[in-house]
Amino acid sequence: MVIRRLPIFFVLDVSESMVGDSHARLEEGLGRVVMHLRTDPYALETAFLSVIVFAGKAKTLQPLTELVDFNAPALPVGGGTALGAALDHLMNELDASVVRSSADRKGDWRPIVFLMTDGHPTDDAAPAIRRWQERWRGRAHLVAISVGDAADARLLAGFADDVLILEDVGEAGFAGCIKWITQSISANSRPMEGGSGEFRPTELGAALTKFDVGKGPPPGSRIDDRFAVFTGRCQRSRAPYLLKFEQIASGPTAGRFEPAGGYTLAESFFELSDASAPAATLSDRDLTDYPPCPNCGSLYSLSKCSCGQVHCTDGPGVYTCPWCAVTSTYETTESLSFDRGRG
Ligand SMILES: [Zn+2]
Ligand SMILES: [Zn+2]
Repeated sequence: MVIRRLPIFFVLDVSESMVGDSHARLEEGLGRVVMHLRTDPYALETAFLSVIVFAGKAKTLQPLTELVDFNAPALPVGGGTALGAALDHLMNELDASVVRSSADRKGDWRPIVFLMTDGHPTDDAAPAIRRWQERWRGRAHLVAISVGDAADARLLAGFADDVLILEDVGEAGFAGCIKWITQSISANSRPMEGGSGEFRPTELGAALTKFDVGKGPPPGSRIDDRFAVFTGRCQRSRAPYLLKFEQIASGPTAGRFEPAGGYTLAESFFELSDASAPAATLSDRDLTDYPPCPNCGSLYSLSKCSCGQVHCTDGPGVYTCPWCAVTSTYETTESLSFDRGRG
């Protein structure tokens, strides 16, 4: 007997805004999905998993792999939220790997896609969404999950079969979301009478709510502007880092940005970033303070070279820029402006 596969695709946003707890919880959660599914004989028999990540670009971390051989990959981080590129990449993978039914062969079950994102797209997703509507709507079941409340749920509702909001991005919320994903895959792995291939919904737990287009925020409103991120390099180790700032909502410093964390990055950050993406600028007068260099602890983590790039220094003096290798004298100034990463 030929086993009909149930292809499961995870399409995960690994943009800068996910850096920190959300990123770690997602990575850990993916491992938990796999661990639980391995105890389910039906899932073991039919489920095949693939992991695609996207930031400024999209990349397959794991091609469609049988559950028993699947290892949850470590998730990289990149700059940007290229939803259109992610959808295109997903469709290329679906086209290449999903077996369609023919006269003498039963193909794969209807694929299930779990797309998780936490921000507004930084590319034009419209052509990819059209392609999805024409080619895959009705042939795959796509669940879009907004991590936090900053994703464009209205846009997601334009192509996803379900749009779910994960409001609590703390540990309990993520655990609930992961549990629901696991249960959904389990439920859809059961033998299907007649084999219509319709997605079988599983009751949502407390962590997820269904997005209601009627009750959502008005089109065009966005709140992911409340974060600003800067990518720098450590002048000592050359290793890249990311400084994250959050806009202050109220009080005498409202509108300015305060440090929300500093993180070391892998070089793979640049592979997943789109260097051509537009960036807004922000002056250092908009910042209340900055976190130290996450690599060496230097307090001057936002020194700017004439090449436009950010790196750390030990204060005023002569340094070699780890980006462009030019050596020059650095002074303190009150009015630097920076390209503000979009995330
Ligand atoms: Zn440093
Ligand atoms: Zn430079």
